[in-house]
Amino acid sequence: MKLLIVEDEKKIGDYLRQGLTETGFIVDLARSGLDGHHLAMTENYDLLILDVMLPDIDGWKILKSLREAGRNVPVMFLTARDSVEDRVKGLELGADDYLVKPFAFSELLARVRTLLRRGTALVNETTLQVANLELDLMRRRVTRAEQHIHLTAKEFALLELLMRRQGEVLPRSLIASQVWDMNFDSDTNVIDVAIRRLRAKIDEDFEPKLIHTLRGMGYMLDLPDEA
Ligand code: CA
Repeated sequence: MKLLIVEDEKKIGDYLRQGLTETGFIVDLARSGLDGHHLAMTENYDLLILDVMLPDIDGWKILKSLREAGRNVPVMFLTARDSVEDRVKGLELGADDYLVKPFAFSELLARVRTLLRRGTALVNETTLQVANLELDLMRRRVTRAEQHIHLTAKEFALLELLMRRQGEVLPRSLIASQVWDMNFDSDTNVIDVAIRRLRAKIDEDFEPKLIHTLRGMGYMLDLPDEA
């Protein structure tokens, strides 16, 4: 399996190349958008990992150009930007996945494997689903048991994070940095309040309960254990 990473930040590029090479992939690394674009147009890759913010041409332009040229290679965006607009734009252009920096290598690897399994027959991932809870990323709609639920922008972002990382315990500090773009050292009250509101909307009147509190650790969204 051959991957192309397009990343101008030297440390991140080197780290990804090393990690993915050690995992057994063949990895090309381009440090500029133009180099990346050239490689992506001329070589055959199984997956592209594209940074959005590049000094010459950005990740979106690269993706747009590839899709216009009929190249359907799966693309995962790597981005420090976490706004709704960016994400929707990426999905509209035909990105297959998004990973927000900073991320754990284990998560990147899991997503890479998922994308490679899905291959090129992939339909854009625009809906997340856990049990009867559905989140439509394009229409910004949430339904539980087919009932429409109104969420604020922050609640939506929080729910999206929890659903994308289903089964993973998310510490408050991570939630703070990903949803509020802030570092909370002590005051995690904001998060607890937001979780309480979200719970009241998506969990209270429904079964099974999906949002779990892990005391002293954080929050997790998952189906309850069968046992
Ligand atoms: Ca960059």
